[in-house]
This record gives sequence, C-alpha cells and structure tokens, in this order.
Amino acid sequence: MRNLALHWQILIGMFAGCCIGLALNAFGSNHSVKVLTGLPDGVVEAEVTDSTSQTVIRYRDSEQNETTFVVDPASQSGKEIRSFKELAEKSPISYQIYQQHGQSFAKRAGEWCRKIGGLFLRMLQMVSIPLIVTSLLSGILGLSDRNGVGKMFRRTLGYYLTTSLLAIVTGLLFVNLIRPGLQTANTKSAMTSAGKTFDQPALTEVIFAQIEAVIPSNPLAALTQPNFLSIISFTVIFGIFSIRIGGTPAQRIRDLADAAFEVMMAITTAIIRLAPFGVFFLMSAVVATQGSSVFRSLGWYVVTVTAALLVHACITLPLILRYFGKRQPIEYARAMSPALLTAFSSASSNGTLPLTLTSVEQRAGISNKTGSFVLPLGATINMDGTALYEAVAVLFIAQLHLGYNLPLSQQIIVAITALIASVGAAGIPHAGLVMMVIILQAVGLPLEMQGIILAVDRVLDMARTSVNVWSDSCGCAVVEALDLQSDDGLETGLSAG
Ligand code: ASP
Repeated sequence: MRNLALHWQILIGMFAGCCIGLALNAFGSNHSVKVLTGLPDGVVEAEVTDSTSQTVIRYRDSEQNETTFVVDPASQSGKEIRSFKELAEKSPISYQIYQQHGQSFAKRAGEWCRKIGGLFLRMLQMVSIPLIVTSLLSGILGLSDRNGVGKMFRRTLGYYLTTSLLAIVTGLLFVNLIRPGLQTANTKSAMTSAGKTFDQPALTEVIFAQIEAVIPSNPLAALTQPNFLSIISFTVIFGIFSIRIGGTPAQRIRDLADAAFEVMMAITTAIIRLAPFGVFFLMSAVVATQGSSVFRSLGWYVVTVTAALLVHACITLPLILRYFGKRQPIEYARAMSPALLTAFSSASSNGTLPLTLTSVEQRAGISNKTGSFVLPLGATINMDGTALYEAVAVLFIAQLHLGYNLPLSQQIIVAITALIASVGAAGIPHAGLVMMVIILQAVGLPLEMQGIILAVDRVLDMARTSVNVWSDSCGCAVVEALDLQSDDGLETGLSAG
C-alpha cells in the first residue's frame, strides 16, 4: 500500500470508507430501547426508536405526563425537528436520553469516524493560514515587479469570471432541459409547508461585506477569525509594497517568506500522507449515518446537478485547460487527484487548500508564484461548482413552487446573483446552501423551500467542492501559460521602487 501512488491510496480509502459505512448502516442503524434507569432527574421511563431516517424519543415524567419528540432530517411537514442540534435546544432532556441510551450503533460508530476524520481536517486547518500567507508572499515577491502582479491579478480574475459564468450557463441549460422540478407530481403542497429558514443576507449587504473584507480593519483579527479574503488582500498589499520599496528590505522579506514557505510545505507534505486515512473515516461517517439514501433521494434534482457538474468538469474546463493552459487534461487531473478526492470527502475548498497547493506545485509542476497567487484567491472567490449548483437549485425550487419554468429575464437575475453568491460563499461545507437565500430573495421565491434540498445537500456539496477545486487548479495552468507566453514582466529584476 505504501508504494501505491497517493491518489490510489485515497481512492481506496474512500471506497473502503463507503463499504464500511454501508455495512454499519445496513446492520447497525435500527435501534429500539425502553429505559427505566439512568435517566435524567424527574424522568421515570423513556423509549427511543432510532433509524437512519427518523428518531422518536418518548419519555414519561414522575407526574405521568408523556412527551414525544421526532427528529426527521427530511421532514417536509414543518412539525418535526430536523436535527439533533435543534433537539438539544428545544428539549435538553430528550437530547440527553438520546445521547445516553438511544443512539444506534451505526450513528455511534459514525460519530467516532467523524471525530477521527476531523483530526485530519484539523491538521489541514492548522497549516492553511501560515501556508497561504507564506506562499502568497513568496509568490508575489517572486514576481519581482508591480506589472507582473497586476497582470497576474487581471488574468486570474478574467479566468474566474469566465469559468463561473460558463458553469452557470451549463447549469441553466440542464435545468431547463431536464426540468427536475416538473418531473415529480404533488410535491408543491408538501414543499411549501417545509419549515426551515436560514438567515437572510440581502444582495447589497453581501456585496458590501465582500468589499469590507478586502479592507480589514484589523489584519491580525482577520488571521484568527479567519477571514480568508482579508488575509489575502492584506498579504497582497504587503507584498506589493515590499516590491515597491525594493532593495534590502524587500530582499529580507523575500528570504524570510521563502524560508517559512519551505518549512510549511514540508509540514503539509507530511500531513498529506495521512489523507487516505482521513478520507476513509470521513466517508465512513457520512455513509454510516445517512445510509445509501445519501446517493438516492431527490433523484431528478441530483441527476441534473451532477450531469451539469460533469459537463463543466469533464468538457468545458478540460477544453480551456487544453487550449489556454496547454496541458493534457487527463494527466493534469491525475496530478490533482489527491486534492480533488479530498475536496470530495471534506466538502471544503478552504480545508483542501494545502493539498491543492502541494499537488499543483509538486505533482503538476506549476510554479509557486502562480499557484500561491491563483489558489488561495480561487478557494475564496472562484466557485464554479457552487455557482452552477445555486442556479440549478433555485430553478428547481421555482419549478416545484410555481409549477412552471422561470422566464428568461428572471433566469438572468438568477445567473447574476448566483455569481455573486458563489463569490460570497466561504470554502466550507454547506456555505453554498446558506448563500442561496440571496438568489431566492432576488426572484421572490419562498426561503422555506430550501428545506426540500437539505436532505441531499451533503452529497452535492461534495461534488461541487471538487469542481470548485478543479477549476482553481485549471486556472493555475491557464494563468501560468498566459504568463509564459507574454514577453515582458518576468525577466525584470527586483525594481527599486
Ligand atoms: N463546500 C463548498 C466549498 O467549500 C462551498 C459550497 O457550499 O458550495 O467549496
């Protein structure tokens, strides 16, 4: 196993995780108990029935009053509780009974797998900020002159904008063709009563929050929050002004950044060797607790998002990579596979960033100056998969709710707001789902309708995060190729202000 290439090890870890998760779910997910001892004060008897889809907790207090709580993550009636977090808030007693006596073996094991897999994610988190800062700084100072930075910035943004818009158009095409929301009858009434709502950021607020993030009032606080956009913008400003000052100070900062970056890369490479184990535990956790329904429910919607993501990832981006990035797409994807597979299992582009950086530089042969500039920025603002998913999900919701497709004018609003929502979404699990509120508001759809897509969000999140990371990676090749093609900028020495 040790001699096997890392991406194979990760694939094996992922497959084994699925198998173990499925086995745990098949044989250990149904649990039913009646408890008479070891109950919270005032409770004399409790009964818990736990399964993958639903948990029922019933208890009787000393005055013989009976209380029942139902936790159903896919509930559409709005009456049941959707998560255990919600249960803990509404009824701490029921939550305690469930934790102590009611959890099925699959959920207990899944919880442990999530914790162990979480250790791997923590290690990645541990290195991500120092890695971004040192890598960005050493990359920018390696550019040596201000024109170089400006040019790279413009190209990177140009690439991000183009691919995100292409992704949205692909999503809209598929959702108009397949019409997933019009395939299922009788869903409308059930959906409209779904009870879950999210915080409601307004469109203008989101745009302004991004602008504010670019000007951190306290760069050190941005490091601890962490706010990636603020960290990136301050590091870029620091780097550009170091180049502007030039001479010995710039040289010293460059040496320091290079040295620190080398150390961070060494730590990251060591952590990455653990990826197969991390992926194994994370996959086991998801599949053990959610069962094969993770892959099955809400068929047409999942098919539409997946098909559109596949077209974008396997046709559009490879064509761009081939013609503008001058790379063999299959080889490039193979080099990026550790990052793509980790993105899939962790559903976090920020969490995957250390792996993306190392894969791009060490396996795909992209220079540090490009990788360290394009990737951290990309993990924060370039989310093709998220943009595509937002567009499909909102049109799907509209089809379900209205019973017909949104007109073109409304679809254009969806496209523009989906772009903004994807820029605003953080590179963490389910961020896209939360940002969708902006689009729903923009076209006047009820926010509660989001409840329906919650159940399958995890698996779609995994897929769209891989596409997000794949797009960032292709961006590196494209920006690098454009950079090599242009005559000026690179040979210039460290300009003295
Ligand atoms: N999980 C995605 C990412 O980290 C963001 C999203 O929820 O769409 O890239």
